[in-house]
Amino acid sequence: MVLTIHSLSNMTTAELEGKRVLVRVDFNVPLENGRISDDSRLEASLPTIQYLIDNHAKVVIISHLGQPKGPTPELSLQPIAERLGVLLGRPVQFVAESVGDLVELAVSKMVNGDVILLENVRFHAGETQNDPGFSQQLASVADLFVQDAFGTAHRAHASTVGVTKYLPSYAGFLIEKEIEFLDGAIKSPKRPFVAIIGGSKVSGKLGILRHLLGKVDVMVIGGAMTYTFLKAQGHSVGKSLWEPEKISEALAFLADAKSSATKVVLPVDHVVVTELKPDAVAVIVDGGDLSDDQMGVDVGPKTVALIEAEIHSAATVLWNGPLGIFEMDAFSIGTFAVAKALALSDALTIVGGGDSAAAIVKAGLADDMTHISTGGGAALEFLEGKTLPGIAALERNNG
Ligand code: ADP
Ligand code: MG
Repeated sequence: MVLTIHSLSNMTTAELEGKRVLVRVDFNVPLENGRISDDSRLEASLPTIQYLIDNHAKVVIISHLGQPKGPTPELSLQPIAERLGVLLGRPVQFVAESVGDLVELAVSKMVNGDVILLENVRFHAGETQNDPGFSQQLASVADLFVQDAFGTAHRAHASTVGVTKYLPSYAGFLIEKEIEFLDGAIKSPKRPFVAIIGGSKVSGKLGILRHLLGKVDVMVIGGAMTYTFLKAQGHSVGKSLWEPEKISEALAFLADAKSSATKVVLPVDHVVVTELKPDAVAVIVDGGDLSDDQMGVDVGPKTVALIEAEIHSAATVLWNGPLGIFEMDAFSIGTFAVAKALALSDALTIVGGGDSAAAIVKAGLADDMTHISTGGGAALEFLEGKTLPGIAALERNNG
C-alpha cells in the first residue's frame, strides 16, 4: 500500500474552519469496573482532535467499545467523554446516541472548536453490517470525515468504510503514523533489519513470517511457535504448545527460508516446567529436545544473549509477539530482556501486536520505542501485507 490517501495533515484552516468533521477514533479502551485502565488509545487520538480544534472545526467523534449486540450501559462511551475532556483540557459533550435527532440537535448547537463524543456506534447492528442506511445517517451530520481508528481499520464497518461513500474522507495523524512505521519502515528499512516474532500459535503468525521472509535480514522466532518448528525438525517438544496440522507448513517455511536472503534463528535453549503455574520449578533445557513431561514457557539465557546481539547490530527492529508466557513473572524474563534491549538500542524500534505492546507498557519502556502500534489485529494484518479496508476506502474515495 502506498501513501496515496488523502490526509488531514495537508488540510488548512481555510478548508476546516467551521466545518463539521466526523472523526472515527479507536476508543476501544480497556475498562476495569467501569474505569479506564489504560489511556494509550485516547492519547493516540489527541493530535488529530487537537489539530481540528486549532483549525476551528466542529469535532464530532465516533468510536466503538467492546462487542455489544445492542445498547449495553456498561459499554457506553460516557466515561470516556469525561476522560477525553481532561486530556484535552476542554469540555467534551457526550451525546447518548450515534445517529438521529439527538445528534442532529447537538451538532446544530456546536460552535467552532467544540468537541462532542457520540455514543458507541456498535449499539446499532448496522455498524458491523456496514449498512448503507446507517452509514448515511452517520455521515448526514458532517461535512468531512476523518478516519483515525487504526485499531479498527481492518474491519469494513459503517463508521470505518461505509461513511467514506458519503463524505470527503481523510486519514488522521495516527493512521498516517502507523502507515509510516508499519509500511514505510518495512518497505525501505535501514539495514540490518531484524524481526523478532513470538506469541502463541504458529497458525496466527505464518502470514507475518511469510510476508517478512526475504524482506528482513534476520528473523528470530520465539514463543510457543518455536515448538511447532522444532517438532517439524524432528525434535521432541514434550507438553509444549504445538500445532500438528501446521507441521508441513512449518517445514515448507524453513525450506523456503534456506533459499531466501533471511537468516532464521530459532531458540537454542528453553525455560521448561512440568506444570504450568506461576511458582512452578523451572529448569533450562539446552538444544531442541524436551522430555515428555516438559513444557517450554520461555526462551533460555543463551537464546536471550543471541537475540540481544542481533538487536545490538540492527538498524531496524520489528517486534511482534512475546517470547514466553510473560503474564507469569517467572516466565517473562526473555520477553522483558528483549524489551530492555530494544529500549537501549539506537535502532528504529517498531512494536506491533496487542500482547507485545502490553509487555512493553508493563516493563515501563513504552517511551523508549520509536513506534508502538495502537492496532492489535490491524497491525498483524498490516504486517501480513494485507490491505486494510478502512485505509483502502480513503484511497478509493478520493482517488
Ligand atoms: P501479540 O498480541 O503481541 O500479537 P500473541 O497474541 O501472538 O502476541 O501471543 C501472546 C501470547 O503468547 C501470550 O499470551 C503468551 O502467554 C503466549 N506465549 C508466548 N510464549 C508461549 C509459550 N512458550 N507457550 C504458550 N504460550 C506462549
Ligand atoms: Mg495477542
